[in-house]
Amino acid sequence: MSRVYNFSAGPSMLPYEVLKKAASELLEYGSSGQSVMEMSHRSKEYKAIIDDAEATLREIMNIPDNYTVLFLQGGASTQFAMIPLNLMTKNKKADYIITGQWAKKACKEGARYGAVRAVASSEDETFSYIPKGFEKKLDPEADYVHICMNNTIYGTKWHEIPDTGDVPLVADISSCILSEPIDVSKFGVLYAGAQKNVAPAGLTIVIIRNDLIGNAMEITPTMLNYETHSSNGSMFNTPPTYNIYIAGLVFHWIKEIGGLEAIGEINKKKAKLLYDFLDSSKLFKGTVKKEDRSLMNVPFVTGNEELDAKFVKESSMAGFINLKGHRSVGGMRASIYNAMPIEGVEALVEFMKKFEEENLNV
Ligand SMILES: *Cc1c(COP(=O)(O)O)cnc(C)c1O
Repeated sequence: MSRVYNFSAGPSMLPYEVLKKAASELLEYGSSGQSVMEMSHRSKEYKAIIDDAEATLREIMNIPDNYTVLFLQGGASTQFAMIPLNLMTKNKKADYIITGQWAKKACKEGARYGAVRAVASSEDETFSYIPKGFEKKLDPEADYVHICMNNTIYGTKWHEIPDTGDVPLVADISSCILSEPIDVSKFGVLYAGAQKNVAPAGLTIVIIRNDLIGNAMEITPTMLNYETHSSNGSMFNTPPTYNIYIAGLVFHWIKEIGGLEAIGEINKKKAKLLYDFLDSSKLFKGTVKKEDRSLMNVPFVTGNEELDAKFVKESSMAGFINLKGHRSVGGMRASIYNAMPIEGVEALVEFMKKFEEENLNV
């Protein structure tokens, strides 16, 4: 078997060690006589798995006690509705910062439930930067401020958390969860689809400050009410049991590497390799303002669409797959999540150097 380097934005690579461990336990977990997939979610074996996953996540993210961790379904996209349904209930208004397609979608969904303002946007420059200096425009009476922490499609990241005063800050961290340390106490809600940095698609992680639970709008469907899930330990209905098990293995994998500090250093090193090359290349260039660059998603172009297409094709044949940029922006994008080994980035840079030599003057 030869595994490719998969630069997909999501679903994406999982750590090889995790896949191996899961494979070894696929037919029988411990001495349970069954696969985790077949277990009752109410069984004592499964209870140990979900409890351990939560405890390990709390440990590596340093999640304060006054926050609840929820393992849900529906993807990050369902949170676009759950956030307003549960939080936009006091003054019925919220502020959104528009930094890309996901933030835009979240804002559009929020507008179905109350008075939503797009306070700042970087759409004027194809979302190639993070807006700054908008804090004074924020409404102190808003029920929350929403940001998308890492913009998967455009490759930007909030390196500084905006100060929203007493207004709870809500962040979509789908594509940067567990990529580096984060101060959970600065946020009201953090949420993430698992398929980028945590587990197979189908699991959504929500980390929510306890005082924000229990105030949902009257119209809120039972399944979209955070309280339903918090008061039932994420087991109001059947949770995505196998995904939570894989997530637990990934949390342990991170812990063994040395936690988020260590993972963050590795991710910085990986991203630097690629950005340094892009900055020195005569053919390729990055598309994002330097200070706002993402550690996880690195978009780049040659400036020539035909050459971009050639690069995508040849890189794929060489075992570097899914380097095509998002359909809305074109060019290329290398997503280098936690599970992408540094060797994968080194090999990609070598391949890009070779491609540059062969194609610079043609
Ligand atoms: C992938 C992604 C989403 C969408 O996630 P789903 O789980 O597919 O709904 C939302 N926000 C960000 C930042 C993403 O990267």
